[in-house]
Amino acid sequence: MSDDTYLFYQSRNPRPFLDHGDGIYLIDETGKRYIDGSSGAMVSNIGHSNPRVLAKIKAQMDKATFGYRLHFRTHPSEDLAAKTVAMTPEGLDRVFFVSGGSEAVESAVKLARQYALTQGQETRYKVISRFPSYHGCTFGALDLTGYDPLREPFAPMLEGMPKIDAPATYLDRDNLSEEDRGLKYANLLRDKILEEGAENVLAFVMEPVGGASTGALVAPDSYYGRIREICDEFGVLLIYDEVMTGAGRTGKFLAAEHWGITPDIVAMSKGFGAGYAPLGAVVAQARLVEPVLDAGGFLHGFTYAGNPLACSAGLAVLEEMEDQGLIDNAARMGEVLMGELRALMERYPFIGDVRGKGLLTAFEFVADRNTMEPLDPSLNAYDRLVELAYERGLIIYSRRTRGGTAGDHFLIAPPLIITPDQIAEMMVILRDALDAFAL
Ligand code: PMP
Repeated sequence: MSDDTYLFYQSRNPRPFLDHGDGIYLIDETGKRYIDGSSGAMVSNIGHSNPRVLAKIKAQMDKATFGYRLHFRTHPSEDLAAKTVAMTPEGLDRVFFVSGGSEAVESAVKLARQYALTQGQETRYKVISRFPSYHGCTFGALDLTGYDPLREPFAPMLEGMPKIDAPATYLDRDNLSEEDRGLKYANLLRDKILEEGAENVLAFVMEPVGGASTGALVAPDSYYGRIREICDEFGVLLIYDEVMTGAGRTGKFLAAEHWGITPDIVAMSKGFGAGYAPLGAVVAQARLVEPVLDAGGFLHGFTYAGNPLACSAGLAVLEEMEDQGLIDNAARMGEVLMGELRALMERYPFIGDVRGKGLLTAFEFVADRNTMEPLDPSLNAYDRLVELAYERGLIIYSRRTRGGTAGDHFLIAPPLIITPDQIAEMMVILRDALDAFAL
């Protein structure tokens, strides 16, 4: 393997060359096989190199790869929109395609703003989000993101949208019941809306299950309904960022379904294209979209949005998900995986918390389980465990937790096709890596 490269991402650190994918596995050019324990970055929901999906993409390739959306309607984009509406909760019935998660979040916010203008609400522009959170890296999405290391270099260039604390229930040492704790955190939104002036607040954006910034953090059940109520009370639009949680990852098509919530707008990507195409979608209530179109149109759009090749991939992905019952499998395998991860706490005292929903699961390292004090950052635990697992043929995804300010969490989020035997195979490698870490 040559270390020479003209290419850069976050760092130079070159990895081995990827050769091919096969289900939950990725194989590098030396023939070494890795379990994709994080589906890349929670992307490859139906696994790698699915032959039926590849055949459908190739069939579209032979017909037309691109037709600009203002010049032609295409069947793949119409069919994918219809399928998406059919799979999302009732009321979410208009679809706008994009090519990624940051684009989806920004599109959701811009749709909200244009809708507010049609209602004569010119003063509404503030979008409240949470700390910690991750909503993307473009300027608009970054401004909503509560993750300090990513914001700091660009802070002067950001508007500085208001934030409330996301529930970090595993750190709470109060004597509240789960229900009261959920309400306590949700009511932070009410306080913030009043502080900013309801007439200025356009929307509230949240990840229903935290992703990269918090490590699969789920709020108490009472949180979700209370947030919806508060948004309705003040006419604030509720945007769910389901870029990571959408497309079946948590055991429902949208995570919102676990709590019976219908958001006003939902942003999706990652598992929606599932690695077969750069693809994302904004799914919104028609009552928001129609007035915007009536008033002259949505002043927003990306060149590649809705192209037939990406949409044919997305359609094949959703069909495969349905045919194979992958969303139910995610719910079932999520239970198995959570049981396995909880068992790790008996063996490794430095695992302080295990959490998640469906196949979006995580564990967090701590120095002390009683205080939940994070591990000393100089131990560089988050890099070390990832490397120990990688050497042994398991890919996991880690970030500094608590908004990037401290601690280490590890996301375990394999493709939704995973079987019990494959979970067992993954756990053997993970335990081996944790043993090596503990030494
Ligand atoms: N929102 C969430 C919840 C995400 O997890 C991500 C990506 N990690 C994004 C938005 C941004 O997506 P992308 O990287 O595709 O722009």
